[in-house]
Amino acid sequence: MALNYEIKSLINDMTSEVRKLYAIDGPISDIDCVVRKLGGVVIEDPTIDGFSDGQIRKTGPNSFEIAVSPFQTEERRNFTIAHELGHLFLHMGYKTNAERWKYQDDKPYYRNGNSELEYQSNEFAAAFLMPQEEYRQVMDRYTNGNLVDTSEIARHFHVSVDAAANRGKWLGYLKW
Ligand SMILES: [Zn+2]
Repeated sequence: MALNYEIKSLINDMTSEVRKLYAIDGPISDIDCVVRKLGGVVIEDPTIDGFSDGQIRKTGPNSFEIAVSPFQTEERRNFTIAHELGHLFLHMGYKTNAERWKYQDDKPYYRNGNSELEYQSNEFAAAFLMPQEEYRQVMDRYTNGNLVDTSEIARHFHVSVDAAANRGKWLGYLKW
């Protein structure tokens, strides 16, 4: 199941708004620092299993905490944290829906097995870490004939090769 075009556009627009608003430019090399800028903190929690990799919860009217498993690569950790930021802005209402945010308690945000929300957060993460315009520029830099070096794109954005390749496919730049 894929997200429809409108939802994807809305999510992409929201990520660029957030990046603009908080003056987050270029490739994100220190995501913990970005989270602090947004009002949150990242903590390591070895009890989080490989199934979810991360959790997010509200800790105050203007603060939140993301807990991540320490057992993941830095690239995966970046995506996990950006995914949780997707839940924060899209589903918990942080800075986007005051009513909804007000009613969040301090328990970890619970996904309720809703895969649509998971897709939305994945889209948020991909767009947040790899903004479309920058992706295009970086891709052009690492294209030779019709060969695109996705590992260089991944390196640029501090994400896994899979995440970089998927982003290129969803943007319509790379073939499935
Ligand atoms: Zn999720």
